[in-house]
Amino acid sequence: MYGPKSLIDKFNFETLDISINPMSQKYYTVIGLETHIQLNTVTKLFCSCLNEYSPNTPNKNICPFCTGQMGALPQLNQAAVQKTIRLGVAINAKIPELTRWDRKNYFYPDSPNGYQISQYENPVVEGGQINFWVEEGGVGKFQPFSVQLTRAHLEGDAAKLLHSGNKTMVDFNRSNCPLIEVVTDPVMTNAAQAMAYVTELQLLVRTLGISDADMDKGQMRFDCNLSLQTEEQFQSDKLPSYRVETKNINSVRALGRSIEYEIIRQAQLLDQGITPDQETRGWRDDKGLSITQRSKEDAMDYRYFPEPDLKILSIDRDDLPTLASLGELPNDKRQRYINMGLNYQIANTFVMQANVGEYFDSVITD
Ligand SMILES: [Zn+2]
Repeated sequence: MYGPKSLIDKFNFETLDISINPMSQKYYTVIGLETHIQLNTVTKLFCSCLNEYSPNTPNKNICPFCTGQMGALPQLNQAAVQKTIRLGVAINAKIPELTRWDRKNYFYPDSPNGYQISQYENPVVEGGQINFWVEEGGVGKFQPFSVQLTRAHLEGDAAKLLHSGNKTMVDFNRSNCPLIEVVTDPVMTNAAQAMAYVTELQLLVRTLGISDADMDKGQMRFDCNLSLQTEEQFQSDKLPSYRVETKNINSVRALGRSIEYEIIRQAQLLDQGITPDQETRGWRDDKGLSITQRSKEDAMDYRYFPEPDLKILSIDRDDLPTLASLGELPNDKRQRYINMGLNYQIANTFVMQANVGEYFDSVITD
């Protein structure tokens, strides 16, 4: 179900010359993902406005802080930290005793403060891994797979810009809503792994009750870092000198398409002896292509510095939930069914469709 085979046929390669065989040389794909997930707290991250999806009533849930007015001070929503910690415990990550907030400075019309409150050096969650299964080596051949995480940190979301004709409007309902950014190590090598990883991450945060992770509502969004290793780099375990970040990916299918697109784009350049530019590109799912947004030369310098309006947060060891208290997690449940002799597809159906799994559990225990 995660196979990219059918994806490639549906591409609109209007900016790629597909007459050039992109695989005339062998390359090894290196993928790291950054996933933004909106937490389902009642209120926003640093103010008491409601954290709710309300696109039909723009600028309903706003206050002086989340509209960036001078002198308005942030107040930390502890529930957002607790939900992030639940994720950290579930993925066997390190939860540091101290976590700190940093200002990420940039101006954009959807961020009127001129900065975003994020976490730079001391995130709530460090490391960890997500275990799941991926279809590789043939149709219907599913194998266990693990993705190592670098970190997961908390930050306030930006507002939303709405473009209509030659006008642009700002909806601050989303401004300062709590996001966790989950960052993987560069450990994935194809679209199937990346698509299976984000599917499992969505299932995990829903199971933990920390996010609805509804991609149609923008509650889960992906940035994909991808580069291609040459045979020599692969053999010496060296990463390429560049990487390309594709932003604005809003669905699992779009993630798969953007990866296949980027592999072919970079391979065509490498075949011509050109090293792809280190750059940020924006994915246009309607057109099936990506467009340059920023090159290395105009890369942002965010000038992170410690947020002066928030204290360093001490996380008491006694307050950490135990792994057992989180309930049965998706991959453990899958493994339990497989240990009972069910094949992967059936086991996975019982995990993905919780009511079917619960019914099965109730029948076998009767
Ligand atoms: Zn507010």
